[in-house]
Amino acid sequence: MDEIIRELLELKKANLLRELNRPLSSAQGVKVKLGDRELLNFSSNDYLNLAANFPQKEALDCLKRWGVGSGASRLLTGDFEIHHELERKLAQIKKTEAALLFPSGYMANVGILQALSYKKKCAVFSDRLNHASIIDACRLSRCDVFIYGHADSLALRKLLKEARDKYQRLIIVTDSVFSMDGDLAPLDELLRLSEEFSAYLVIDDAHATGVVGYSSFDVFNLKPTPRTVIMGTLGKALGTQGAFAASSGHLIELMVNRARAFIYTTALSPFIACLTLKNLKLVPERMKKLKENIKFASKLFSLKRLSAIFPVIVGRSERALELSNYLFEAGFLVPAVRPPTVPEGTARLRISINASHSFDEIKSLYRAIESWSKEGG
Ligand SMILES: *Cc1c(COP(=O)(O)O)cnc(C)c1O
Repeated sequence: MDEIIRELLELKKANLLRELNRPLSSAQGVKVKLGDRELLNFSSNDYLNLAANFPQKEALDCLKRWGVGSGASRLLTGDFEIHHELERKLAQIKKTEAALLFPSGYMANVGILQALSYKKKCAVFSDRLNHASIIDACRLSRCDVFIYGHADSLALRKLLKEARDKYQRLIIVTDSVFSMDGDLAPLDELLRLSEEFSAYLVIDDAHATGVVGYSSFDVFNLKPTPRTVIMGTLGKALGTQGAFAASSGHLIELMVNRARAFIYTTALSPFIACLTLKNLKLVPERMKKLKENIKFASKLFSLKRLSAIFPVIVGRSERALELSNYLFEAGFLVPAVRPPTVPEGTARLRISINASHSFDEIKSLYRAIESWSKEGG
């Protein structure tokens, strides 16, 4: 076991040891508790404050009607009417023909690429800053993987041109809102490239759904094509758990047949499916409030953003930990994000704005960061 201890010590020395030592003692929300300490939360993906602040009576109805466990995979006896109802609604908000639920976004990304790549000589093109679940999905796809520079559609075009005649199938995959920087992928250019090269385009809307709109495509006034797959998650702005792929009817049918991450797993809880439908009714009103807060924070931080993610990049891991601890003492919960989650030398605080923050709360966080920086931080 010595070698395991040594490995852990090395992580600790590099300020990269991750620990589960600060569990919340309250439910998720804008005000949370760590032990007895109340903190203002600026780091959840619960952008619309729905994780614990949902209509309780309706939730209870869901619970009584459907129970919690699904009891089997979708293709056996774990397929419920409420799954189909939610899938129709999700297809509608993404403006696609159909949608398919997965137990998590990680599995949705794996499943989508499994379905698109099954026994094909394929190439997948992935943005350098894509989410780890996309990176793993690329590896599992057994396609040849090409990484292009962040949001660099010119570089992508070159790669596509070289690959065009060598592969049966080309797949472009990208976050729409990048999870650690909060910027947007050039979706209009990517969609154009997908059409020019007959490539499939897989969009990860985890941080876009319910934040920049119902769909990142709406921001660019784009319509999904038969070669587009939009992945969305339920565990972020929608406040529950799970994920989905939205696409053409045929591509969804292919996923039902080829996505092992869909076939060989217990179906999403029907209670969660039902509650997600209830939560969706609250989205328009809360999204409006969130957008006002994002606008306010954009001005304050001088950082143009449509998403709710505001990175404060400080460089070295120990500096990020210092700032995080400083803010903790001041009553704010903003953990440091360090490599390998972000590239070497870009350790940061990843602030996320919530629909239920007040302008004053956002301002007070900004002031606290300002004082840290004045005190030599
Ligand atoms: C959170 C996230 C996922 C994974 O979704 P889960 O439902 O948490 O597994 C995938 N992609 C991106 C960009 C994410 O931020």
